[in-house]
Amino acid sequence: MPKELESGLLYVSEEFEVAGHLCACGCRAKVMTPLGPTEWSFEEVDGQPTLRPSIGSWQLPCQSHYWIIGGTVRWSSKWTPEQIEQGRRGEEERTRAYFESRKAAKPGRLAALWHWLKELAGRAFRRR
Ligand SMILES: [Zn+2]
Repeated sequence: MPKELESGLLYVSEEFEVAGHLCACGCRAKVMTPLGPTEWSFEEVDGQPTLRPSIGSWQLPCQSHYWIIGGTVRWSSKWTPEQIEQGRRGEEERTRAYFESRKAAKPGRLAALWHWLKELAGRAFRRR
């Protein structure tokens, strides 16, 4: 990621799974968006980038909220404090759901093993 970003350009690093651009309002704030299953998704069609979901810079003074779709910026309404809170909660929810679905695979196997051990122990006990 270059230190100085050029406005109107979306920088994407697949290696570091992050995209960066200067805020579309012109305030020159650097907006970094991590890419990943629980973060933003980046798509390029005919050289035109699309980032999903929308970019809500509620941490910036400008409070910009917009979409980058097909290489153009579509402005969205500014977020109310309630929407910001909702957006944050949605993010946490997505992250938790993702990690829980990944966790589920392993403890599932462990639980099965535990069950089997218990059955063996039960059998051994009954034999006496
Ligand atoms: Zn801005």
